[in-house]
Amino acid sequence: MKNKQNTRKKDRFAGVGIPMSDPGRPMKPPAKVPYKRIATEEAWITPEILKGYRELVGNKDGDAGFLSLWGVFIGRGGILLDRLLDMGENRIRDMDAAGIDVQLLLLTAPGVQVFRADKARALAASSNDRLAEAIRKYPERFAGLAAIAPQGPKTAAKELERSFRKLGLKGAVINSHTRGEYLDSPKFWEIFEAAESLKVPIYIHPQTPSPDMVRPFVKRGLDTAIMGFGVEVALHTLAIITSGALDRFPELKIVIGHGGEGLPYWLYRIDYMQEYNRQAFMPKLRMLPSDYMKRNIYITTSGLPWAPAITMAQSVLGMDRVLYAMDYPYQYRVEEVVMTDRFPIGAADKKNLFQRNAEKVFSL
Ligand code: MN
Repeated sequence: MKNKQNTRKKDRFAGVGIPMSDPGRPMKPPAKVPYKRIATEEAWITPEILKGYRELVGNKDGDAGFLSLWGVFIGRGGILLDRLLDMGENRIRDMDAAGIDVQLLLLTAPGVQVFRADKARALAASSNDRLAEAIRKYPERFAGLAAIAPQGPKTAAKELERSFRKLGLKGAVINSHTRGEYLDSPKFWEIFEAAESLKVPIYIHPQTPSPDMVRPFVKRGLDTAIMGFGVEVALHTLAIITSGALDRFPELKIVIGHGGEGLPYWLYRIDYMQEYNRQAFMPKLRMLPSDYMKRNIYITTSGLPWAPAITMAQSVLGMDRVLYAMDYPYQYRVEEVVMTDRFPIGAADKKNLFQRNAEKVFSL
C-alpha cells in the first residue's frame, strides 16, 4: 500500500515537459497567424536558486506545499529542469516549434520567497541581472519581470525600481504568499507604491497554498496546479481587493494567470456577498469587487487554453483585460497554441489577446 501511494505521488507529473521534438512525436508547428504570439507567464530558474531548493528539500526545511512541489520536481529531474535552466538556443528552438514569438520570463515559483530575507534579496538581485543579460542577447524574443523578496518590503521596492530603470525589466512577479503572509497586509504596501509610481504591473503567480491552508490539499494530492494554486491566488487577489489596497493605489496593475484563477466565474456572487455579508473588520470599499477586477486586474490564459472559460472571462472583464500565456515549460504543448488560435472571437480581439494587450500592460 505504501509503495503504491509513493508511485502515484511520483507519477503526478508524468506528463510534464514531454518534449514535442521527441522521435516518434513529430511536431507540426501552428499555422502562421496575423499576430505575434506573446506568452506572458513563462518560467525559468537560475542554477543557484535550484541549488537552494535542493538544499531545502534535502533538509526538509520549508512548508509542506513547497516540499511537496519541489520534492517531486527535483526527484524527477530531467527535461523539465533543463528547460527551466536554459536561457539560450534550446529555449528559442522550443518557442519556434510552438509558434511563440516572445516569452515574458518569470522566475519560477516560489521564486526567492522560501529563503531567509538576506539570501532571498541577494538571489533576487543576481537572478534579475542574469535575466537582463539573456534579454540583451535575445531582445526580440525575451522580456522579463523582476524577482523580488517581499520578506523585506523596502528592499523589494528598491529592487523593483532598479530592475525597471537599470535592467529594463517590465514589472515584478510575486509567487503568492511569502512564508504564509499575503500582500493585503499594509506592511507590504511599499511594493505597491513603487509599482504604481513606476506604472509597472505585479504578476501574482501561484505557489502551493500557505501553511495554514495546505494540509488538506497535500494529503489528497490537490496542492499544486490541479486546484491548490488556483485557490491560493484567488484568495490572495480577493484579499487585496477587500483590504482596500486598490482604493489606496487606484492605478496599480495586478496580473493573475490561469483564466483569473476562477474569480471571473464567481464575480456576481462575490459582489453580492461583499455588500450583503460584509464583515466588521472589512473596510468600506469605494466600488464593487468586480469594479476593481475591471480596473486593476488583468488575467492571462496560462494553462487554460479553453474557449468556454476564457471567452466567459473576456465577457465579464472586457477584451482588453485578457492576455495570452502558455506556462512554459510546465505546459508546453503545440496543440494548446492551436486551440487558442481557434477561439471563436474576431480577428481584432484575437490580436488583442495574443499581442496588443501584452504590449500595453507590460510596455513591450
Ligand atoms: Mn506558471
